[in-house]
Amino acid sequence: MIKVHCLTTGWVQIKQHHQLARFFKRPIRVLDVLTDTKWSPHLPIGCWLIEHPEGLIMVDTGESSRANDKGYQPWWHPFMQFCERRGVKAEEEVGALLKARGFDPLAIKMVVMTHMHGDHAGGIPNFPNSEFILSETEYQGIQAKDAVFNGYLTMHYPDFFYQNIRTVNYKDGAFENFEQSTALTADGKIRLVPTPGHTLGHQVVIVDMEDYYILIGGDASYSETYLLNGDIDGVCIDGKKHQESTAKMREFCRRKPTITQFAHDFNSEKRLNEKIFTKVK
Ligand SMILES: [Zn+2]
Repeated sequence: MIKVHCLTTGWVQIKQHHQLARFFKRPIRVLDVLTDTKWSPHLPIGCWLIEHPEGLIMVDTGESSRANDKGYQPWWHPFMQFCERRGVKAEEEVGALLKARGFDPLAIKMVVMTHMHGDHAGGIPNFPNSEFILSETEYQGIQAKDAVFNGYLTMHYPDFFYQNIRTVNYKDGAFENFEQSTALTADGKIRLVPTPGHTLGHQVVIVDMEDYYILIGGDASYSETYLLNGDIDGVCIDGKKHQESTAKMREFCRRKPTITQFAHDFNSEKRLNEKIFTKVK
């Protein structure tokens, strides 16, 4: 029996043109975010726990409760200093949320990272016993010279993280309409598929619940509405790939009832708990 929980590790505020891009070309899009004076509402920062017979699996780790401490965000980075606000109380960090629900963070077998942006990787220190599953491309991203500039806060990764990384490159064949996938569990019920665009190495997790799927989408879209509209976010690395990935996810939802989950979507938890499927025209 598989069960999925949606956890919220505090909130983040981003610029409105970050949440929803007005332009397609990246330099113009990013400039539009940097010069935007309007903030989004407080958006949730989601992550997920999957109870599976082969062990407990996390998808993403949410934000750190230290994210607003002086010096946590790089002082020289205009985007992190001026274009994002975060609010994560100690009791809202992922380790505390798991304990409050009766789960031991030290017992988590695997942590799948949809991607390595700060508000998804901030809770990594809570999981010293876990194996971290990253796409090969995202792993290269955190090792690149410009990693911090690109939103990967590598200075906060604990040593054990690097020792416990497993990379995947989707060699387990096609899955539904995705040409490539990796089976994460021996029973094949949990699969990873590449969804580049927001970052080049972004991946989503698909949980097979027998008569429906749960698609855990990280930042592959910022909300179900944006997914349905094919909208892109203001900071995505590759707008074309982002749109191709959301088109694939929409086609996936057409094939079989699917509950979609996104990290910054107000309604993720409600859709999961009330079993509300994503309706694609
Ligand atoms: Zn992100």
